[in-house]
Amino acid sequence: MQVSEKDEDILSLYQKIILDHGKSPRNAGVVKQHNCRSEGKNPLCGDRVTVTAALGDEGQVLNLKFDGKGCAISIASASMMTEAVRGLRADDVRKMIQAVAKLCKEDTSDDQFFSEYGDGLGTRIEYLSALSGVRQFPARFKCANLPWQTLLSCLDGNDSATTEG
Ligand code: ZN
Repeated sequence: MQVSEKDEDILSLYQKIILDHGKSPRNAGVVKQHNCRSEGKNPLCGDRVTVTAALGDEGQVLNLKFDGKGCAISIASASMMTEAVRGLRADDVRKMIQAVAKLCKEDTSDDQFFSEYGDGLGTRIEYLSALSGVRQFPARFKCANLPWQTLLSCLDGNDSATTEG
């Protein structure tokens, strides 16, 4: 694959965003008044993430925090997730979980991606596009996806999630 100069600029910007969140995670800790909690594991890399959330009557995310140990990508992804989904309605959160899996794995063009997910998720999705830098490292997909799968399991009422099986 040929990486143009412009792409290199974008990649290093993405790396900066990921490193920044990895070093100074946002919303680390536990939501005291949570009504949803799930623990996620990625045995491949050793990442562990616990998500706690306070959900409203209709499943909207009122508050969300994470606690965990893992590589910079898993921590950065968890940190970005807590900022991106706060205040969203339940169906938009699920849509965003799908969108992130696609963003980190598939080679959809930006135009295609934004026409599918830009509606409603708008600038929040743009903010998450730094995670698409993970596409360069397919082995790290599970690291990036772990917090999101853990959140999904939390929303589904399950107390644990794993990237295996
Ligand atoms: Zn990892």
